[in-house]
Amino acid sequence: GATLATPSGTELNNSISYFVKNVKNLTQECNILSVWCNPREDHWELAKIKSTAGEEASVTLSDGSAITVSTGELLPANTESLDGVNDLVELQYLNKPSVLHNLQYRYRNDVIYSKAGPVLLSINPFKDVNIYGNDFVKAYKEKSSDKPHVYGVADAAYHDMMKDGGNQSIIISGESGSGKTVTAKFAMQYLAIVGSQNLRIKTKLVQASCILEAFGNAKTVRNNNSSRFGKLIDINYNADGIISGVCIQTCKHITKSRVSQISRGERSYHVFYQIIAGAPPVLKDMLSLKMASEYKYLNQSGCLKINGVDDAHNFIMLVDAFDSLGIPHEVQENVIEWLAAILWLGNISFAVIDKEEHVQPVDDEASRTAARLMGCNMDDLSELLSTDKIHNMTIALTSHQATVKRDALAKFIYESLFNWLVQEVNASLKGDNQPARHTISIIDIFGFESFQKNSFQQLLINYADERLQQHFIRHLCKLEQEEYELDGVHWKKVESGDNQECVDLFEKKPIGLISILDEASTSSEATDETFTDKIKEDLSSNFCFSCEKGTFRVRHYAGEVRYNASGLLEQNSDKLQFDIIQFLSSCKKPLNQLASGVMDQVQTTSQSVVVKFKDQLFNRIQRLDNSKQHFIRCIKPNTKQLPGSYDIDVVWEQLKRSQVMETVHISKSRYPISFTHQEFATRFGCLLSDNLISADPLRTSVSILQMHGVPTQMYQVGFTKLFFQGQVDVLENWRQEVL
Ligand code: ADP
Ligand code: MG
Repeated sequence: GATLATPSGTELNNSISYFVKNVKNLTQECNILSVWCNPREDHWELAKIKSTAGEEASVTLSDGSAITVSTGELLPANTESLDGVNDLVELQYLNKPSVLHNLQYRYRNDVIYSKAGPVLLSINPFKDVNIYGNDFVKAYKEKSSDKPHVYGVADAAYHDMMKDGGNQSIIISGESGSGKTVTAKFAMQYLAIVGSQNLRIKTKLVQASCILEAFGNAKTVRNNNSSRFGKLIDINYNADGIISGVCIQTCKHITKSRVSQISRGERSYHVFYQIIAGAPPVLKDMLSLKMASEYKYLNQSGCLKINGVDDAHNFIMLVDAFDSLGIPHEVQENVIEWLAAILWLGNISFAVIDKEEHVQPVDDEASRTAARLMGCNMDDLSELLSTDKIHNMTIALTSHQATVKRDALAKFIYESLFNWLVQEVNASLKGDNQPARHTISIIDIFGFESFQKNSFQQLLINYADERLQQHFIRHLCKLEQEEYELDGVHWKKVESGDNQECVDLFEKKPIGLISILDEASTSSEATDETFTDKIKEDLSSNFCFSCEKGTFRVRHYAGEVRYNASGLLEQNSDKLQFDIIQFLSSCKKPLNQLASGVMDQVQTTSQSVVVKFKDQLFNRIQRLDNSKQHFIRCIKPNTKQLPGSYDIDVVWEQLKRSQVMETVHISKSRYPISFTHQEFATRFGCLLSDNLISADPLRTSVSILQMHGVPTQMYQVGFTKLFFQGQVDVLENWRQEVL
């Protein structure tokens, strides 16, 4: 059969005009050519060209019918032998239908991983695909499989670390529900097996994530097991490549609001349902625990169960995990007691006691049980919930204010529990205290979210996602091209998307969303209205921003989101809740010990949440920049969390946003190997007779290349460096022979 002549290395080979020019020759030669045509808008179908005349082509569709289309509407299809290639870089034609077809072809055969140049793509199967576990780990460890896999990425990170001695990071991104957390878990599993002599660390990691998931994950409408906290897992190794300890850092500032507020169809944190379904009857009696439907914090969303999830069973797993981390039963019971107290707090209602509408908690089962579980007396609880203390003055609260106070108490307790848990988990994973030689960090932070109602949580999540996206594009599309350009290499630039304007919208000083929000949250005069007015006035010139009554829209790279402005200030201000802290330390139940971490933090900082969040994010990204980075992009094949369904529009949107095509284009024509002229001349000078060696390393280098007939399309001579597409191994062999 005939093949199309490949265009030169730097030319993008999906160019239609180039293709059309070739159509004639080909059809004459062999009378068959596969093309993609879309007889119905955006429904690409494979067809064969029968004949062409001028700008028109007659094609046969797969059902045998023939149609005439304009050649301009056709896109070249790859030969069948390229069906389902491992790496999109191997495709001869890189266009939308070809890429979608390739991934779908693989996905249909349960092959969920593919490469897009340097990036591993992972398409969520939403079912068991049997490609994990010891046998698979072994195959990647022994390098007997080179199929794309998260194990392959973890293995590359491990080997790069051992070879170059540098820190590594595995960056996992993707929208909510695309599979980031599961992928992170498998990467961790691989690294734990490869880097330890026994399985203790692996078991501990599994237990640790069981605990963190119970307390940090919840059902959202996008993902039944959505992690509501971002995490960074540092796996530390000693010089022999054996794990010396693991440390999990969490972004915890945004998790707590879910405790008191859940949207329709969603759930609060799993652990609440687990204790209700699974706690032994004696314990339940002691805690006066009722059914989930009895608690306001849980029943407000109209969703108490998740299909296919057994909360009672998961409770047993949780206790198991606690046991194996060495957390004593009394402490476990104490934790559960506090969880029950939170649920009862949510049921406390308030009664008006004077003409100014000031309130007091109603003395009923809810308030009495909450007080009993917390180990305080009713009067103290009642005072805490019905008053605020400002500068030694006591101010009575209205019903709304008291409810806010009650929720603040519940959220504070939950946050303290969560932080305490992370500490406990880390203590048990700390290992042998040897100083770490190298670290592999796995990053599973938030993925883009857009709901009907979006508030502070989504704003932070989507900001983090936007920032990470910028990092991703910079690394995969920008830095390398910039280097070529600066070094004068002949390079046809691949334009990549840019989300700088949206990042600026958030970060610009002094008039970015973050600084305005921060200022408003720390000022005593600002209200939701003044805040909205201010952002409308100051930010509307930014293309990514628009503001309407009480809401504003941000054009994120991943889509436009409308945020509710009301409540943002409240949620952003992390007021020092001294009376809450004081109250809790006087309680007879030892939350003091659990909460000490939070108390330290609360007392040392007065920044608003968004600023703390940003600082934390900057810190993380800076650490990434100081490590070798491995990228995994998770993709959800449909929005219904269904197995076996591949919605090309949904997939394409994500590929487009994550610049997959651009990354592949760059990879196809990139120069992966480079030397400075000096490095090259020194290393390969031995291949040249002495009289040809010049004082100028550039001239020496060029002589070496010419003398040995290295094809000119394989390299480029830059101002400071030589860039190679390949062939260096051939030179290396000659060098070995000469030496
Ligand atoms: P994210 O962290 O991106 O929000 P998750 O990792 O929680 O998404 O994945 C959502 C759900 O998708 C999981 O609960 C699981 O059911 C399914 N899933 C994800 N990755 C895989 C996989 N590799 N194999 C099987 N199921 C998966
Ligand atoms: Mg997750």
